[in-house]
Amino acid sequence: MLSKSRSAANRKILTELIATPTAPFAEHFAIEVVEKFCHRLGRTAVTRDAAGNVLVRLRQGRNRTTRPVCITAHLDHPGFVADRMLSANRLRAFWRGGVSPDYFIGGRVRLWTNGRWVRGKVASVKTNADRGRRRVDTAIITVPRPVPKGAIGMWDFPDFTLRNGRVYARVCDDLAGAAAILCCIDALIHGKSACDAYFLFTRAEEVGFVGAIAAARAVTIPKKCMVVAMETSAERLNAKLGDGPILRVGDRSTIFTPEATAYCERVAADLAKRNRRFKFQRKLMDGGTCESSAFRTLGYDTTGICVALGNYHNMNPKRKRLGPEYIDLNDFDNVVAWFIELCRASIPYTGKDEKMLSELVELERKYARLLHQTVTSPK
Ligand SMILES: [Zn+2]
Repeated sequence: MLSKSRSAANRKILTELIATPTAPFAEHFAIEVVEKFCHRLGRTAVTRDAAGNVLVRLRQGRNRTTRPVCITAHLDHPGFVADRMLSANRLRAFWRGGVSPDYFIGGRVRLWTNGRWVRGKVASVKTNADRGRRRVDTAIITVPRPVPKGAIGMWDFPDFTLRNGRVYARVCDDLAGAAAILCCIDALIHGKSACDAYFLFTRAEEVGFVGAIAAARAVTIPKKCMVVAMETSAERLNAKLGDGPILRVGDRSTIFTPEATAYCERVAADLAKRNRRFKFQRKLMDGGTCESSAFRTLGYDTTGICVALGNYHNMNPKRKRLGPEYIDLNDFDNVVAWFIELCRASIPYTGKDEKMLSELVELERKYARLLHQTVTSPK
């Protein structure tokens, strides 16, 4: 059962991370929060790969598994990076990430400049065709004062608001995913749980998971690991907020490693027996392609877990305007509980679908005699 204090600790970690300014190729503040968090806790080994992805290893107690889990989340969110001032109050900025061009003009922006936000408004955009879609490339933003090159620009929504069991924020995708990992690490260390696990915080997912591709190429994650990529993923008609975190059998592009998916399902089903508040879903989330497809295609046993997300990429489709992203807080607590079990590995991952295998063996045993007795005549 999730204690009140655990829930409060989760809230604190989540709200600190999602308030952090971030954009593709400008994840340095989020990286700082993650690294400081781990250093403060101690016990973890924290390293960066050549692409700047952050790998965390946590091993404590006597639990030694041959195929530990590596849970990943990305530290960027669709946003602007300031290029240069074209005149006293006109800033040219690069845009990176998947937001439809229809949402930009007049959109209110905040730019993180020397430790504070400067407000601006999108005056115009330049688009180009990229992988079959029109995408915004650069924007002209009107600002009250000069903004330095490299400043991070985000849609102008509050850090977060908690309302009716949901968190509304400028960013959920995927800082909330990264926060769930931090909550898991925090709980494992404070609970002194025996565990052996890796965690990877990646960069530049929103332009096509190039941080994850670089990590897979560099074998940042040991090959023995089973990779679980954590996302917040646009709510679907059959995968709703509040119905529990979602085990993804695949995304728009690929189907994930069936054995890894089956394993996560087994761990969740086992947890559900002991924790009545825990629930989960198992779905094909084919709204987009996620890092799981990259890790899977580049040689890892991989699956995905997500929580359903409202106003995906700050787009409110009903009102056809920008809005804060939101997730359900019970889904968040439940995904943390699930991660903890995956890291504890009390059921080990073997690379085989052990549950299905034992069901097959049972059926085989039950009907072997009858099957052979009836080869020539019915019975
Ligand atoms: Zn995204």
